[in-house]
Amino acid sequence: MSHQRDRSIIDVTEVNIIVKPQNVENRYQPLSLIKGILVKIFLMSIAIVTVVSLISYYNAYHRETEERLEELTTYVSEHVRTESEIFRLAKDNLDVFSQEFLKLYQSDIKVSEQEFWSYYFVDSQGATRMKREYFDGFYTKDGGYIYGLSSFIGNNQSVKDPDFQRRLILAGRVLSRMGPAWVNRFANVHVAYPENAITLFYPVEPWGLHARADLPMNELGVIRAVNKKENPERKAIWSGLYYDETAKKWMVTYMDPLDEGDRHLITPGHDIYLTDLVDKIVENNNDGTYNFIIRKDGYLVAHPSDPTDDQKWVGQLSLDKINSPFIKEAYRLIQEETKGNLSEVKIIKNNAYDCYLAVGQFEGPEWLLVRVFPMKIIREAAHAAAIRIFTEGMMILTIILFIVYYVMRYQAEKPLKQLTLAAEAIGRGEYQAVAEQTITLPVQLDNEIGLLSTRFVEMATNIRDAQENLERIVEERTKALEQVNADLVEMSLLDGLTGIHNRRSFDRSMTRIFTDGKNNLGTFSIMMVDIDFFKNFNDTYGHAEGDQVIKSIANTIKGNIRAEDRVFRYGGEEFVVIFSHANLMIAKEVADRILQAIQGLQILHRQSPHGMVTISGGIEEFDPSYTSAEEMLRVADSRLYHAKKAGKNRIVFGSSDPSGSNDDVEVSFITA
Ligand code: GH3
Ligand code: MG
Ligand code: MG
Repeated sequence: MSHQRDRSIIDVTEVNIIVKPQNVENRYQPLSLIKGILVKIFLMSIAIVTVVSLISYYNAYHRETEERLEELTTYVSEHVRTESEIFRLAKDNLDVFSQEFLKLYQSDIKVSEQEFWSYYFVDSQGATRMKREYFDGFYTKDGGYIYGLSSFIGNNQSVKDPDFQRRLILAGRVLSRMGPAWVNRFANVHVAYPENAITLFYPVEPWGLHARADLPMNELGVIRAVNKKENPERKAIWSGLYYDETAKKWMVTYMDPLDEGDRHLITPGHDIYLTDLVDKIVENNNDGTYNFIIRKDGYLVAHPSDPTDDQKWVGQLSLDKINSPFIKEAYRLIQEETKGNLSEVKIIKNNAYDCYLAVGQFEGPEWLLVRVFPMKIIREAAHAAAIRIFTEGMMILTIILFIVYYVMRYQAEKPLKQLTLAAEAIGRGEYQAVAEQTITLPVQLDNEIGLLSTRFVEMATNIRDAQENLERIVEERTKALEQVNADLVEMSLLDGLTGIHNRRSFDRSMTRIFTDGKNNLGTFSIMMVDIDFFKNFNDTYGHAEGDQVIKSIANTIKGNIRAEDRVFRYGGEEFVVIFSHANLMIAKEVADRILQAIQGLQILHRQSPHGMVTISGGIEEFDPSYTSAEEMLRVADSRLYHAKKAGKNRIVFGSSDPSGSNDDVEVSFITA
């Protein structure tokens, strides 16, 4: 019964304390904390890297623009400076030539007609030419060497004029003296005359011998341009670029007319090889930059796209012959921006063609070197810089994310998993496992998670302790309750006055022992007891004194029965004793002892014939023939009746009529 009670109490406790987790397996699985954080960091970082890349694009664009334009300026100014050298040199040479010639011309050196014809001859078509030996070369008497000279006077031109003859001879002398020193850098040096004539120092080509007899020299472009009519300001003239079929080279001609007073004497000139210059300048780059050279008057001098054969023949490409809208637009812009004045390199933005034009001016011919620089290059560089920043940023970001992932995995995810397991264990009511850390928790971590884990363990410990405490209290209370219950039961079975068992207790004990008897579990006996003349006692000594007597008698009976026997207050001044496992003999013995003891009490009772308080009793032993406890009790009661009848102060234990209905039957009894 005690076990049964414990279980029920614990069940109630469990219902109150344990909140069982709902179906753990089917619960929503949340996104990993780390993944969530990493995704957030990743997205934020991408945004930052993108912004940084855009800023760097902007910065790189400006920086690149600045740097590239500076490079461009340097490139163009360096090239015009370096490549102008040949033009400066040409000019210097022709100045020297003119001075030398003028010195001779103004001297009193005479040239006779005879001397003239020692140099020249008239060919079959009437053209006057210098003799071949002057080209092929010969030694003079004074040890000089003359070579490379040729000269041509068209057949429409008279050579009779002595001054003309003198100029031809003197110019030839200066040419043979100075020419050899100059033909390293220059194709040739030549002298044109206002008359239709020319003399050249040109060692690779005997030009004067080959020229068409009727060639109108002084009507050809550059030579015509130095004539007084064409060139009243008497300035030096640069031809356009042309292709010399003989030398297979690009050339330009520079001519500077020499006058004496109003009179045009000669025009010394240089043919200048420009192949190197053109090769150097008119390069074609893969990145889209290229150069071209254009004259201030809009004649194209050099351009990377090869001129056609027709253009080579013409030698000069004017804008109207160039079918290039880009060059036309560039030229228009240059005109507009420079207004013809270009002391330093100018950068011009050509939005229509998405490029910059860097324009510098060569000395001498005052050609314009134009470098075309596509803006695309700057954009691509800025783009590359931004892409690099973005790529590097993303790489660093990826590395950082990996590090964060690993750090967080060990610092957060694993500990959080442990915490989750612990929380689930607590959910299942396994406080002990968490409190004693059978389930591992990261309490050693020196951070919030470590602190949380410690609190977790503390919480589990507290819950466990509280539960244990509660169980102990419940157990204590249960025991106390049981005791109280037992006491209550006991109290309900006890008599208030005497403290011995009462009539109800007797009924229960009697029913049980009678059933045991009927089940052959052993015999027993009962004894009914009644105090004699007790009404009189009350009347004489008072009711309170009577109560004391009842108590004394009860105690005396209780004190003299065996351990296994029990005395009950049956009602008023009547008692009944159950002798367990006792036959009549044993009951009689005990009854005798009781009688003696009450005798021994010596309670004075003046109204009793015995002079003291006595009792009467009737004993009956169980017999299997009894059908009820009441039947057996009636027999004992009838024996008590017989004891009273026979004079009281005795205990009747047997008769020939056990029913006791007959008053006159012989009875067996004991007395004090
Ligand atoms: P007998 O010898 O034939 O038994 O005579 P008796 O006077 O004892 O007669 P009876 O048994 O009929 O009377 C019982 C008396 O016991 C009546 C009542 O005054 C007294 N009595 C019953 N219960 C109590 C009690 O609790 N206290 C006291 N003081 N007296 C009681
Ligand atoms: Mg009575
Ligand atoms: Mg009585």
